[in-house]
Amino acid sequence: MKKIILIIAAIAMAMSLNSCQDKKTESPRAKYIFLMIGDGMGASHVAVAESYLSAKAGKIGGEQLTMTQFPYYGTCTTHCLDKTITCSAASGTAIASGQKTLYSRLGCDADFNRLESMAFPLKEEGYKIGIMSSVPITHATPAAFYASTPDRGDGYGIMKQIPDSGFDFFGGSGFEDMFGKDGQQLGADKYLEQHGYEVCFGPEEFLAAADTCERIVFCQQKSKAEDAKAYVSEEADAEDITLAEMLQLAIDYLGDEEPFFIMCEGGDIDWESHSSYTMPMIEKVISFDNAIAVAYEFYKAHPEETLIVVTADHETGGVAIGQGESWSNTFIDWIKIEEEWEKNKEKYLQDSKANREFNEASHIGWTTSYHTGGAVPVYSIGKGAEKFMGRIDNADIKGKILGK
Ligand SMILES: [Zn+2]
Repeated sequence: MKKIILIIAAIAMAMSLNSCQDKKTESPRAKYIFLMIGDGMGASHVAVAESYLSAKAGKIGGEQLTMTQFPYYGTCTTHCLDKTITCSAASGTAIASGQKTLYSRLGCDADFNRLESMAFPLKEEGYKIGIMSSVPITHATPAAFYASTPDRGDGYGIMKQIPDSGFDFFGGSGFEDMFGKDGQQLGADKYLEQHGYEVCFGPEEFLAAADTCERIVFCQQKSKAEDAKAYVSEEADAEDITLAEMLQLAIDYLGDEEPFFIMCEGGDIDWESHSSYTMPMIEKVISFDNAIAVAYEFYKAHPEETLIVVTADHETGGVAIGQGESWSNTFIDWIKIEEEWEKNKEKYLQDSKANREFNEASHIGWTTSYHTGGAVPVYSIGKGAEKFMGRIDNADIKGKILGK
């Protein structure tokens, strides 16, 4: 009898051990998730930036950004329900909610029903949530992760949805429509402060408040300007921090005790690409990649528990290495191109014809001042990263991140 009891006890112990192990291996997703979205960043943007970096290192090719060193690579189709060429609102919504919608719809379907971003179920499960961008927090891509509106241009209305999300960290260059479209509303910072958020302008204010507040919004210093236009930061000025520094603030703020989900957007890659500004575009891709390097450093400290996915909402500009009379034996002399840009930058920024000629002389082609319909790259590393290999669609990303 004793023997039988011992055997039963041993079996029960083995079973409970097994179920513990099962539970451990069952966990469907990474504890720390970074979704990095380069707005408008196609494979050619990456190729142009790497060609430039190689030239700076005295080579024709071979230098790599951090993102292209990740072990898994795929491509992602971006079309929306009614158009081959999508926009940030529709594609951001597809990425965030897993459902395609009509062009220009933000966080809602064709009938204006709310589509739920992946950040909400993650929040429910105890993940801390950080949403950030190099452009305004209320711009389409970050907004797709917390807002739902029939009018993507209603920056003030989008801002008012921040408190409804209850998300922990927001970061960006500032707000669109700081005082509403009519300029008569309560300042966005005041509104958010009345609804439970600490709003900080610049890193000093942020660091002073970070220890004592539960929810925080970081804005660049220059966005404090009362001028209703000045808060939209197109280019970082001396007082602004980089996207990489902003991501580090978010990581430090969220901490590593609880799980977190961070969506970090390089939003200005798109903006420079709409204007066919080759050198500023390269600078913004590198700046976005520097933020990816911050996520990668975090991954190296938590390799078993971290997932980093890098992709884009669509391609902008149809940029290519080579255009017009370029031949296959053309050498792109980035050292000379950069010197010329630095010398006559003001002219090229103001005169689109001069900029076109500059691009032509540089053998860099731009086919459009809008978006294109090509697939965008996906680079990933970490827990579950292999799911992003091969050909995927933007509406697949939510399911793959949630591990369903
Ligand atoms: Zn765009």
